[in-house]
Amino acid sequence: MPTPSPHNQREFAIQVVRDLRDAGFEALWAGGCVRDQLLGLTPKDYDIATSAAPDQVRDLFGRRRTIPVGASFGVITVLGPKPAGQIEVATFRTDGGYSDGRRPDQIHFSTPEHDAARRDFTINGLFYDPLTDEVRDYVGGVADIEARVVQAIGDPEARIAEDKLRMLRAVRFAARFDFAIDAATLAAVRHHSSEITQVSGERIGAEMAAMLVHPNRSYALRLLRETKLETHVLPETIQLVDADWVGVLNLVIRLEKPSLAQVLAALLARLDDVRVAGGIGARWKLANRDVDRADWLLDQLPMALNAAKVRWPQLQRVLINDGAAELVAMVSAMAGDDDPSVQLCDSKLALPRTELDPPLLLTGGDLIAAGFAPGPAFSSILEGVRDAQLEGRISTPDEALQLAQDLSGG
Ligand code: ATP
Ligand code: MG
Repeated sequence: MPTPSPHNQREFAIQVVRDLRDAGFEALWAGGCVRDQLLGLTPKDYDIATSAAPDQVRDLFGRRRTIPVGASFGVITVLGPKPAGQIEVATFRTDGGYSDGRRPDQIHFSTPEHDAARRDFTINGLFYDPLTDEVRDYVGGVADIEARVVQAIGDPEARIAEDKLRMLRAVRFAARFDFAIDAATLAAVRHHSSEITQVSGERIGAEMAAMLVHPNRSYALRLLRETKLETHVLPETIQLVDADWVGVLNLVIRLEKPSLAQVLAALLARLDDVRVAGGIGARWKLANRDVDRADWLLDQLPMALNAAKVRWPQLQRVLINDGAAELVAMVSAMAGDDDPSVQLCDSKLALPRTELDPPLLLTGGDLIAAGFAPGPAFSSILEGVRDAQLEGRISTPDEALQLAQDLSGG
């Protein structure tokens, strides 16, 4: 009887295991999906580990349905029917020798036990047989999930020394699941913290960005400090201590579903020299738009915190910006929802766009047509006319032109 076509990734992940078993290979779910399932979370994807060699995986599922994504690591992507997506199938392997502090020099294909042992943390080293509903635990991962602890597999010193990225991964997984980091693993991270700079800026940036926008971001920041990783990945915030540090941690907690730019701005807002977002962006290879947004938020914050006391035309020019909602959310996190500046900004942002940002009564082109010569006074005249419009002192193009003439001293 032909098996029905899988409807989602989970069904497909069971199907791929069954197909590999039917062909005589060992095959198990591996890593994150097993951990997530034990935690009662829905895995975001399913990885399979198998005794089949990469070529055998391709022969079994067909060249057209497979992509050798990481052939040198024995990883083959198997494509499912549309609703099922794709699954990574990796041959059981042992990683041998790390000379660059990040990637194994060579690998060789091996057994499930060895494949578990080459993984980073016990919680990530589990296998699961979806056909019998059995967990295969060679590394003590089930106990560590129960104890809510991130612990390196094997000797923490050696495991951290061979791949420095694991230091940030330890913090990220601990924060993501609100787990502790086991004492020996934590000590190894502290010991090797300065070597995090051997990892590429992009990888550091990707790990940091994931931690900083995660709901548990303040715990991630505390762990970064405790492990000394902060000194090397985010030295800007080292000078924040005592009440300042507590204040920053409380602020980043209060930001709701923040953008990376908002969190960076929150981290940097108390520093004397706030022009540091660019330095972080360059180190972490962040997108310019994130860095520009963080800088903009930092520039506007002092004014926005005082919005209720600022002239409307000045505030209006800020509130029409794309980043206004993020800015007001930051002010709200800093000053409280019922702060008059927050209330004012929220009510303004709720206006229809044509009221918040009414079309110009007078443009530069109108001024030239009326005989004004472009020159230094030109833009300040336009600005004065715009202020008057926003303040409701003028409301027609004729009044605008009259005011322009008055302003130019004509
Ligand atoms: P996520 O849900 O964030 O994807 P994950 O556990 O699937 O979590 P991945 O980074 O996708 O994490 O890696 C898949 C698995 O590969 C991990 O669970 C772990 O077993 C192993 N792994 C990944 N990176 C490393 C590493 N640097 N060192 C050792 N093992 C690793
Ligand atoms: Mg994954």
